[in-house]
Amino acid sequence: MLEHDVLVIGAGLAGMRAAIAARANGANTAIISKVHPVRSHSNAAQGGINAALLDRGDDWEDHAYDTIKGSDFLGDQDAIEVMCRSAGKALIDMEHMGVTFNRDDEGKLGTRAFGGQRRARTFFVGDFTGQALLHVMFEQLIKSGVQSYEEWFVTSLIIEDGQVGGVTALEIRTGQLHAIRAKTIIFCTGGCGRLFEPSTNALIVTGDGMALAYNAGAGLMDMEMVQYHPTTLAGSGVLLSEAARGEGAYLRDKNGNRFMEKYAPNMMELASRDVVSRAEQTEINAGNGINGCVFLDCTHLGEALITEKLSQIREIGIDLAGVDMVREPVPIRPGMHYIMGGIKTDIDGQTTLPGVYAAGECANVSVHGGNRLGANSLLDTIVFGERSGNHAAEASRSIPFLPFNEQEVVSREEQRIREMLERPDNGDRWGNIRLGMGESMVGNVAVYRDHQSVEEAIRDLGQLRDRYAQVPVHNKNRVFNTDLVFALELGYMLDVADTIAVSALDRKESRGAQARTDYPSRDDENWLKHIVAKKGEVGPEISYLPVTITKWELEERKY
Ligand SMILES: Cc1cc2nc3c(=O)[nH]c(=O)nc-3n(C[C@H](O)[C@H](O)[C@H](O)COP(=O)(O)OP(=O)(O)OC[C@H]3O[C@@H](n4cnc5c(N)ncnc54)[C@H](O)[C@@H]3O)c2cc1C
Repeated sequence: MLEHDVLVIGAGLAGMRAAIAARANGANTAIISKVHPVRSHSNAAQGGINAALLDRGDDWEDHAYDTIKGSDFLGDQDAIEVMCRSAGKALIDMEHMGVTFNRDDEGKLGTRAFGGQRRARTFFVGDFTGQALLHVMFEQLIKSGVQSYEEWFVTSLIIEDGQVGGVTALEIRTGQLHAIRAKTIIFCTGGCGRLFEPSTNALIVTGDGMALAYNAGAGLMDMEMVQYHPTTLAGSGVLLSEAARGEGAYLRDKNGNRFMEKYAPNMMELASRDVVSRAEQTEINAGNGINGCVFLDCTHLGEALITEKLSQIREIGIDLAGVDMVREPVPIRPGMHYIMGGIKTDIDGQTTLPGVYAAGECANVSVHGGNRLGANSLLDTIVFGERSGNHAAEASRSIPFLPFNEQEVVSREEQRIREMLERPDNGDRWGNIRLGMGESMVGNVAVYRDHQSVEEAIRDLGQLRDRYAQVPVHNKNRVFNTDLVFALELGYMLDVADTIAVSALDRKESRGAQARTDYPSRDDENWLKHIVAKKGEVGPEISYLPVTITKWELEERKY
């Protein structure tokens, strides 16, 4: 029997950071990932990571204020304080591990400006910061002696009488199902971008961990807060980093006007993401775009700067849209990028399920509230990944293994999978259901949404779920059966999509990324609270939690 004190599910930045911390604390630690660790979505992060360094004259309190304002006052201020205070050390730790951050003319770590922040405090490696961080973290993981289960797909959480005992997982290469026993589990399974189509997220970002935790009774908090990034490429929806605007790029309408002056006269293109995405959508709806897009103009930045700092997104523009940003503006529009919501945790990553932790994008420790600032997510992953790893290692010292019956657990899961494989072909395809869900979410739980549109999404999801219950899996083999893995993922996606739609319907105000045309104002009196979705008899049940306010008072949000 496979047995570990701490089992980390997910090998992106949060997962690797958590595993390294748990191992350093002496725990027998393992990490499990459905893809090779460096193929996790963290690898795709482009723009950078925030930290307020004292020797730059910056101050964690300024970073905290910008984050709280960015969150539209829905972020919990105690958690934000922990993140911003820890940022400097977390960044320097990464530098010491070997990340080759860009440097300025004096040879110091260089910064670039990012949206919603009054200071340039985003540290970066070109426009492929995530790749640089993830590969260095992977080297540390190998060195640490953490056991790694690569290309293993977690299919369920084992819980008996309220105590977590481990997980069941499909070894994708062989098709064999295993039970892994663990005293504590840390979910680091990333976001759920692909519930929306298109999205900037990798195809593997399907909300698995959120669904597993939700189905086991954990609460998903602030799920209505879906971030649409202002600059995703026409057509494919691939991300063009905020770093472009950080380096000075403009947004223009079809007549060449810099429309942001109407919406954010001070910060212009570097207002927070929700504000810029709404501005773009308003212009597009008013007929001031071309083919549903406005333009990202980098032509005045010069080829030298673009080659040094924005080389990856230049290539993306050329390869995927046939546009070279050195020479002409690139057509862009708002696209699904990030989920502020997730498994509710405290500042040590603990969920409401004993022994179960979460960190990174799948978690909601509540540092992003209604809207995440660019470059705060990489920071979130390493700060709260480390804290979760430390806490889980400590907790596992006094938790016994749950003595579940391995054979029984595995054969129950095996039966569920066999039932899927043996379904008759009714002509339907999981790919069509996934696309139907993605298009309904993008169309109805959009940058702007209202009661009617969200209700339509809920109706669509109900019908898609009925189809999902019958959908056949064509490949009947057990060896590397991605057809089966994708079909299983779709079940998780539908669960998480429900919680997003139901929460978006419930919040009757506009705050952060939740812009309701039928309730256009922020309503602090009634809605300064978190929405928590828990699994009920028939779909998600809603409850509320207060927002933690320490010393930063509510104010009107202007950029
Ligand atoms: C294109 C892009 C650019 C971005 N740029 C930035 C940026 O510049 N700065 C910033 O701060 N943020 C950025 N973000 C956001 C940030 O990158 C992510 O929020 C963060 O990297 C998520 O890390 P994570 O460790 O939580 O999850 P991920 O890196 O997504 O890792 C999830 C892990 O979980 C595993 N997993 C999931 N389900 C299962 C399962 N069922 N069984 C086994 N394993 C499973 C996966 O294999 C993977 O290893 C960007 C995001 C995107 C998409």
